[in-house]
Amino acid sequence: MTPLYQRVAFVGLGLIAGSMALAMRRGGLVAETVGTARSAESRAIAAEIGLVDHVTDTAAEAVQGADLVVLCVPVGAMDAVAQDIAPHLAQGATVTDVGSVKQAIIDAVGPYMPDNVHFIPGHPLAGTEHSGPRAGFAELFDNRWTILTPQDGVDAAALDRLTRLWQGMGAQVDVMDPPHHDLVLAVTSHTPHLIAYTMVGVADDLRRVTDSEVIKYSAAGFRDFTRIAASDPTMWRDVFLTNKDATLEILGRFTEELFALQRAIRRGDGEHLHAYFTRTRAIRRGIIDAGQDTDAPDFGRSKR
Ligand code: NAP
Repeated sequence: MTPLYQRVAFVGLGLIAGSMALAMRRGGLVAETVGTARSAESRAIAAEIGLVDHVTDTAAEAVQGADLVVLCVPVGAMDAVAQDIAPHLAQGATVTDVGSVKQAIIDAVGPYMPDNVHFIPGHPLAGTEHSGPRAGFAELFDNRWTILTPQDGVDAAALDRLTRLWQGMGAQVDVMDPPHHDLVLAVTSHTPHLIAYTMVGVADDLRRVTDSEVIKYSAAGFRDFTRIAASDPTMWRDVFLTNKDATLEILGRFTEELFALQRAIRRGDGEHLHAYFTRTRAIRRGIIDAGQDTDAPDFGRSKR
C-alpha cells in the first residue's frame, strides 16, 4: 500500500502519540515517523523502545519536512508549541492535534498557522489513566471514535487523507463543529472525571476509612472511580481550564439531578429512585450495543 504520509512528526511522545505511532506502524500507513518530547528522559525512553523511527531534541527539528504534524502535548501547552514550530513547517503540510478540548485549541494554535498549511484539529476518544512514552499500544483506537473539527474552507483532500489515516489506525471518524464537540465531551468525559475526582477526594477526606476499609473493601463502584481519578493531573487541569463553560453547564445540571435524588432518598421515594436507575441502566445497554464497551463485570480491563 502507498503510505498516506511520507513523514509524520509527533510533538509530545506520551500515551496518545505513542499509540498513534504504533498503530501507524501496524497498518503500514506512513513511510517514516519522527518525534520529540519535552524532557531528555522521555526522549531517551522513546528512542530506546523504538517508539518512532527518529527522536529529535527539538520540535523545530521534528517538524522539518513533515507532511503531517501531530501535536500531542497537554492542552495548555499547545499555544507555545504552535508558536515554536510555525516557522519550520513544510509548505502544504497538515497540522493536527489530539487535545481533549477543541475550541480553545483552535483559538490558541490557529493564529500561528501559516496560510500554506492545513490545520485540522482532532480528538481521539480513547485513552487510559497511564501516561508517558511507555504507555502507548497499537490497539488503543480500534473501534473507537475520533472527532475531527475542521474549520470552514478546509481543504477536502487534506481532510480525506487525515480521515483515512485514523481509519487505518482502527478508528471511526466523525466531523463536528468545535463548540458541539466541547459540549458532548463535557457530558461524556469531562464532568464524569470531575465527579470521580470528587468522590475519591471525599473518601480521602475520611482518612480513618481510607487507611483501611475503603481500600480493603474497595468494590466496583469506588474502584472504578479511583481508576478514573488516577488520570494525569496536568491533562485534566487543562481540560477544566479550557472547557470551562460547557463543564459548568453540565455540572449545573448534574447538581440539580443530585438534589432531586437526595430528596427522593430523604423522602423514601423508592418509585423515583427505581425509575431513575432503570433509565440509566438502559443507557449502559446502549453503550454496549454500540460496541463502545463490553458486558464483562470488569469492563473488559483484564484483557490488557
Ligand atoms: P502524556 O502521556 O502525559 O504525554 C504528554 C507529552 O507532552 C509528553 O511527551 C510530554 O513530555 C509532553 N509535554 C508535557 N508538557 C509539555 C509542555 N509544557 N511543553 C511541551 N511538551 C510537553 O499525555 P497524553 O495522554 O498522550 O495526552 C496528550 C494529549 O492528548 C493531551 O492534549 C490530552 O488532552 C489528549 N488526550 C488524552 C487522552 C488520554 O486519555 N490520556 C485521550 C484523548 C486525548 P515529557 O514526557 O517530557 O514531560
